[in-house]
Amino acid sequence: MYNARNVRPGFKYGFFAGLINTFLDQKILRGKAPWTIKHEKKDNETLRKKVNFKKITYPKPDNEITFDRLTSLSFSGTNHKEDQPCHLVLKNKNVPIEKNLELFDSPETRYCPANVYEVVKTESNHLKLQINFQNCLHCKTCDIKDPYQNIEWVPPEGGDGPNYSGM
Ligand code: SF4
Repeated sequence: MYNARNVRPGFKYGFFAGLINTFLDQKILRGKAPWTIKHEKKDNETLRKKVNFKKITYPKPDNEITFDRLTSLSFSGTNHKEDQPCHLVLKNKNVPIEKNLELFDSPETRYCPANVYEVVKTESNHLKLQINFQNCLHCKTCDIKDPYQNIEWVPPEGGDGPNYSGM
C-alpha cells in the first residue's frame, strides 16, 4: 500500500496529470518516490449531503452470482460472543440520528458490508441506531468514513472476529 500511496491523490490535478503521475510513480520510480502527495480532503469529509442525490434502487440479488449482505456475511465465519461489550463505540449517541440520518441518510447503514448498523424505532416511537456488533468484519470503514468521526472501532474482547481461514 505504501508504494501505491501517490496514485489516487495524483488525480486531484486532473485526469491526464494523474495518468502521467501514475506512470512516473509506478513505472519509473516503482513506488519509491521520496515524496508523498496528500489527498485534498480526508475521506469522511467527502460525503455529500442527501439533498443532492436520488436514492439508487439496486436489483435484488439472484442468489447465484449476487447475494444479500447477510448471506455474504455468513461466508466469513464471523464470531463474537453475544454478551461481550460492544466494540463499536459512539462518542456522542445523538449524532447518528440528529446529524447522520438527517443530513446524510445514515450512510453507516450502507457502507458497512456486514449490516452492523440499522436505524430502528424504539417502543416510544423514537429512532435510534442499533449496532449489531456481532456481525462486524473488522474492516474499520466506519471508523474512517463516519462524517463526524463519531464511531470508534476498538479491538473486541478476547480477539473475537471473522475467521479468515484462507489467510
Ligand atoms: S468495522 Fe466494518 S464491518 Fe465492522 S461495523 Fe465498521 S464498517 Fe461494519
